[in-house]
Amino acid sequence: MRTVYVNGDYLPETEAKVSVFDRGFLMADGVYEVTSVLGGKLVDFDGHAVRLERSLSELDMACPISKEDLLDVHRELVRLNDLDEGLIYLQITRGAPKDRDFAFPDPKTTPCTVVLFSQSKPGLSDSPAAKTGIKVISIDDIRWGRRDIKTVQLLYPSMGKMMAKKAGADDAWMVQDGFVTEGTSNNAYIVKGNKIITRVLSTDILHGITRAAVLRFAREAQMEVEERNFTIDEAKEADEAFITSASTFVMPVVEIDGVALGDGTPGRVAPRLREIYLDESRKAAV
Ligand code: PMP
Repeated sequence: MRTVYVNGDYLPETEAKVSVFDRGFLMADGVYEVTSVLGGKLVDFDGHAVRLERSLSELDMACPISKEDLLDVHRELVRLNDLDEGLIYLQITRGAPKDRDFAFPDPKTTPCTVVLFSQSKPGLSDSPAAKTGIKVISIDDIRWGRRDIKTVQLLYPSMGKMMAKKAGADDAWMVQDGFVTEGTSNNAYIVKGNKIITRVLSTDILHGITRAAVLRFAREAQMEVEERNFTIDEAKEADEAFITSASTFVMPVVEIDGVALGDGTPGRVAPRLREIYLDESRKAAV
């Protein structure tokens, strides 16, 4: 049985509890992070901690937990759960006031709720899907306008994944005003020749921690990176495509809305970037 963390305590997963009045539960008033674990170490912990702080501050959510303490909790969960490969999920909500009310509670009397748990995923870095690539469909992006904040409002991304499943695909890319924003839980890229094209950072997309690392590695490997909008039609004509996230690293995309890219196999750029990303992440993990 897993040991999870709730507000200062390490507990068996069946004994960990959060109030029915918790604003995360009632109003999706919470933020989260997912940090991958490779060889028992945390990948890009600093990046996730910095983004968490920004998400909290954009939502005016006070949560006095230091980066050092957060790192300790992450490491303790890895240790207690004997985690080698997998993820640490963290969620912070605006806490549990005495009653349901739209107005934010006073953080002095209603402390934030902090929950962390581990997800063991043996073989995550050697996923068979990375060898075959995944299929995506396109769907309308009807999410709210602050996707740069990593909130727990994940209903539409969940629906998107179900639409993909129903269509016989693995995931969905969302489209707004004719241009791809991102995947349901990942950033989206196309490749043309030696050039990697991905949407520029704004409030329209989540500022992926994996995205930042992968673009840095790509530039270091002399690949050209162009941050601009692209359409689904342009993507269908691309040589390659891929997604990035903490849980998939770099994952080739081989089909978009039923159209195979190139010869329908992962190609050169995405697998190479995946290899570099995994190597460098293992080296830098803490
Ligand atoms: N976009 C969205 C909508 C996401 O949910 C995620 C992953 N949570 C990402 C992008 C990728 O972010 P990261 O690389 O930090 O996991």
